Amino acid sequence: MHEQKSASSVPAKRSDGPQILSRDKHPVSRQHISSNALKVLYRLNKGGFDAYLVGGGVRDIMLGLAPKDFDIATNATPEQIKALFRNCRLIGRRFRLAHIVFGRDIIEVATFRGHHDGNSPQASCAKTSKQSEHGMLLRDNIYGSIEEDAERRDFTINALYYSVANFNVYDFANGVEDIKQRKIRLIGDPETRYREDPVRMLRAIRFATKLDMTISKETAAPIIALAPLLDNIPPARLFEEFLKLFLSGKALENFHMLRQYELFRYFFPVVDEALEQQSLLYLPAFLEQAFNNTDERINNDKRVTPAFLFAALLWYPIQQQIKVLKQTSSLTPQDAFFTAYGEVMARQQQSIAIPKRFQTVIKDILILQERLTRRDGKRAYRAFEHPKFRAGYDFLLLRHQVESAQGNNDLAELTDWWTEFQQRNYETQQQMIKSLARSKPSTRRTPRKRRRSPRNNKPQH
Ligand code: ATP
Ligand code: MG
Repeated sequence: MHEQKSASSVPAKRSDGPQILSRDKHPVSRQHISSNALKVLYRLNKGGFDAYLVGGGVRDIMLGLAPKDFDIATNATPEQIKALFRNCRLIGRRFRLAHIVFGRDIIEVATFRGHHDGNSPQASCAKTSKQSEHGMLLRDNIYGSIEEDAERRDFTINALYYSVANFNVYDFANGVEDIKQRKIRLIGDPETRYREDPVRMLRAIRFATKLDMTISKETAAPIIALAPLLDNIPPARLFEEFLKLFLSGKALENFHMLRQYELFRYFFPVVDEALEQQSLLYLPAFLEQAFNNTDERINNDKRVTPAFLFAALLWYPIQQQIKVLKQTSSLTPQDAFFTAYGEVMARQQQSIAIPKRFQTVIKDILILQERLTRRDGKRAYRAFEHPKFRAGYDFLLLRHQVESAQGNNDLAELTDWWTEFQQRNYETQQQMIKSLARSKPSTRRTPRKRRRSPRNNKPQH
């Protein structure tokens, strides 16, 4: 057994080779591994290559968890992998990978990565290796040995390799000990590793919450200072990371930890600003509740959409912007909404690229907040039949829950009305709409006023 490292970081190179755990010294068995992953491992071995289950697959089994997916590392090149499997697709630019496709199940196979030390002929070739001015790896297609591959991985607990040829687990970076100690520890010098790939800062947090572990002191130390490196991450990649952080059942914990490490602002600059300045009264409790509900739904196997969370994050900042616009211009309420929405969203998109299909739903949920207040005539039914009614109604409930907890009951009548409306038959619903008109004559006047407004006043968005 290797002694526990007391130095400030795990050495990048080990001369003494991996720690080898034979079958009786670890809990990883083939029963835990999907039959497709096993097929790939056996086929590679049969083809004369080394092949290992690696990363989250081994780590999670060691922790008694069910792995989310199975990643495989091999000394076969992507072309050699392709030659072995008919169902193989080569993908990726930054990391060239093989996907072995079994219907909806995809097994990812990566060739061992090597070092970018500039000494190898491969490393000096821009096609295989590329680094940005900030030390970020833009391309990482240099192949190497299993030892080098282990050193290129992010955390010690992610550098465990399991072989179906001899059932050993190979531990290159003291990951087994860190699993026991429940420590998230970067391999190599933390600052260099974060500079190579700033997303590792987010991964440190994600694994800490997901696995209920703590980030080691040395691995945590540089994060706040290096956080601005996340500005260089393409918005599309940050969107992927957002999904992993906020739609895997640990949104609330990840939110708090991202805030603590000053990383949240790179996802939601407008929201972070408001939280820092404490300028939006209901925002903190609203986010807390939205993340909490999302976690609960995921942990109960209920469906969630990222659009709901985006809507929750942006609702109060948009309301704030509407107020600003109203002070400085004479926009109609509808135009003010669309303008504010456009402005806040434009700023948001610079950080995370939210795909169009989610943007449509976000907009629907937000627009419904206003539409749900107009219930006269046929309007209640039109809102009720809206494909996103349920999400809009849930969003309204959430707003009411948070605002009423702070003494504001403005939404009580509206939420109660909609809750009842959904449970009633057609006749009772009609009565509900009529009694609404009786109790609030002003709601009758509103539509007439709007109908008179000129056509070209319609939002151009
Ligand atoms: P999970 O799949 O449960 O989120 P995982 O550890 O399997 O966790 P993946 O993103 O699937 O994470 O990556 C598989 C493995 O690839 C990791 O365990 C790690 O060894 C390596 N890896 C992934 N991303 C990076 C990175 N940014 N830098 C270095 N190594 C990485
Ligand atoms: Mg994985």
